[in-house]
Amino acid sequence: IQSKLPNVGTTIFTVMSALATEHKAVNLGQGFPDYPMPEALTALVNKAMQEGFNQYAPMPGWMPLRESIADKIKFLYNTTVNPDTEITITPGGTYAIYTALTAVLQPGDEVIVFEPAYDSYIPNIEVNGAIPVLIDLKFPDYRIDWELVRSKITHRTRMIMLNTPHNPTGAVLREDDMEQLHALVRDTNILILSDEVYEHLIFDGIPHQSILRYPDLLQRSFVCFSFGKVYHCTGWKLGYCVAPADFTKEFRKVHQFNCFSCHTPSQVALAEFLNNRDSYLQLSPEMQQKRDYFSGLMKDTRFTPLPSYGSYFQCYQYDRISDESDKNFAIRITKEYGIATIPVSAFYQSGKDNKVIRFCFAKKESTLEQAVERLRKV
Ligand code: PMP
Ligand code: GLN
Repeated sequence: IQSKLPNVGTTIFTVMSALATEHKAVNLGQGFPDYPMPEALTALVNKAMQEGFNQYAPMPGWMPLRESIADKIKFLYNTTVNPDTEITITPGGTYAIYTALTAVLQPGDEVIVFEPAYDSYIPNIEVNGAIPVLIDLKFPDYRIDWELVRSKITHRTRMIMLNTPHNPTGAVLREDDMEQLHALVRDTNILILSDEVYEHLIFDGIPHQSILRYPDLLQRSFVCFSFGKVYHCTGWKLGYCVAPADFTKEFRKVHQFNCFSCHTPSQVALAEFLNNRDSYLQLSPEMQQKRDYFSGLMKDTRFTPLPSYGSYFQCYQYDRISDESDKNFAIRITKEYGIATIPVSAFYQSGKDNKVIRFCFAKKESTLEQAVERLRKV
């Protein structure tokens, strides 16, 4: 058959996790926690199953969950979202992004993507016949060069994709970025896709610059979230998309004939769990503690840190250790030292190599200690 994605291979997360297993490495590569999800949430899922919530959920999602999400949005961002027409529950954040792109992109549309970029974005654009327009984030602080963005806008620019907090770099958008974004899209019909799966994992008291804070931007946006990422249950693959009613209508046309609806008991459980505001307010301080613990330990190594302001990743340069490519370096330290990471060049179409690798610090302290013990020898 003729491939629709001829340039796509196996995702780096699969490659590095398989290598980690093969070499019994400590896996700080693929992003997932190695500690349990909240017990109260597990208990609520059990309860939901025992109470018989085991059949198809409604196609847009379990209504009480959508209401809890709307309540959270009002509380955090002071924006009113209609749970009936503007929120759709999805099987994960990745699916929400794919569905949004598929709902709106026409062949030949241009989509601005910042690199390093989460690895599903570009294949999702290309499979829809649209064209990714790639812009490098400035190295080493990974901020957006808005002048450069302006120079890449054409009459075919259909969408800008944002991701804050950012995977793989841990960079976050600031208020001045949002001002630049406003100025850029005003008087255009450019859409925004904002990937905010790390919404509740942002550090040092920095406010999360959600599109949901800005009703005028929300009018042109799909905003995508992941319960798996924030509640330490990546295997649940559950998330949601917030978008204006006319966008949501198109989104659901794709969703209803793809997945149709998501796992019911976890939606029933989350509806109740989210009503406790601590369930999300405590997440950033908890994860910040892990970042600080990890970066404290890493001071005893020859790796040079780049700052992480959010997500559960921190990037490090290894130029004091080796001049190998980041892929070779990451593979070699998995095999020789038993420590798996992700080479950041995997997030550039060109394979651009700044000699940076990504570590996931969403791990037990004992895992981080064991990892750094090995990294000290590198
Ligand atoms: N976007 C980014 C930037 C991510 O890191 C992830 C995590 N895998 C996702 C989307 C997708 O989340 P999910 O596992 O809910 O599909
Ligand atoms: N988002 C996770 C990461 O960046 C991985 C998810 C996946 O394996 N697709 O590591």
